[in-house]
Amino acid sequence: MLRKKVTDLLENGEILLMDGGTGSELQRRGVNVLKDAKDKLEAWSATSNIDNPDVVIQVHQDYLRVGADIIISNNFWTTPTSMERIGLRDQWSEYATAAARNAVIARDNGNPLAYIAGGIAAPTLYFRIGIDKPDVEIMGEESFTRDYVEHAKILADQGADLILAEYVGYIADCVSAVKACATVGLPVFLGIRHVDRQGNMQFGESIETLCSELKDLPVDAILIMCSNPEAITATLPKLIDAFDGPVGAYPNIGYNPTGPLINKPMLTNQLPSSGPDILQIGTYTTSRLAEFAMEWKNMGAQIIGGCCATGPEHIMAIKPVIKE
Ligand SMILES: [Zn+2]
Repeated sequence: MLRKKVTDLLENGEILLMDGGTGSELQRRGVNVLKDAKDKLEAWSATSNIDNPDVVIQVHQDYLRVGADIIISNNFWTTPTSMERIGLRDQWSEYATAAARNAVIARDNGNPLAYIAGGIAAPTLYFRIGIDKPDVEIMGEESFTRDYVEHAKILADQGADLILAEYVGYIADCVSAVKACATVGLPVFLGIRHVDRQGNMQFGESIETLCSELKDLPVDAILIMCSNPEAITATLPKLIDAFDGPVGAYPNIGYNPTGPLINKPMLTNQLPSSGPDILQIGTYTTSRLAEFAMEWKNMGAQIIGGCCATGPEHIMAIKPVIKE
């Protein structure tokens, strides 16, 4: 079956429904997403791609079942830098390949017309080693780029339709990640994390500067992700003003481990590490989230989904609002 390129759909003004959280949903379904983690998220849900592929595939398929046009492969931290932290750096590419394959199996069986975003999260070294600097500065341009290019190649080889450089916090990392991801020839989406309620990026950099730094670079869409819904509402208009291409949003509604996680319940063996109690969705009910989705659509967002703590029920609630 012939599918249009995802970039053509966006150019035609279509609004696309993205999936919801995968790592948090795996955790909710009882998967150990903190295998061998000592005090931080380490590789988070990366190991589930080989240890629990059936659950990963089921989560993807549940999102397709409720109407997602785009699913994000569970490659978030199947990166060399994350896998290194649980002693699996040598096998990172096996986990990355498995994640992409799980998404392809789910898509081919769930909805062959859906798109797979191969999602690569930033190394996020500031959070791991406590130095507030862009990853590209800590790692050096060469290693940073090599890791992204190799990861993107795996995703492209397995059948991803686009590369999503997501969970990026610093402008310098956005620029280097976009350049590296574009080398495999697929469309590139950029997902910026943790914007604030003043409409700025995580480390106070402005959206205007981000967009001027990205000018002339091959970025096909910019999405605000893993930020709370109010912060997205504050930031989206600035992004729409400053960026010429399609924009989108996928919020975090209550799973926000941005600091050291020592002693947090989710990392304490004695306390439950699965089930709905790990999520704190508070007031962000499915209908409240649908209201936000409507607001973002009216602002001009063309890709809307969910990040941490959102599940298929949220995506199901958003669908009629953005597709009407
Ligand atoms: Zn998130």
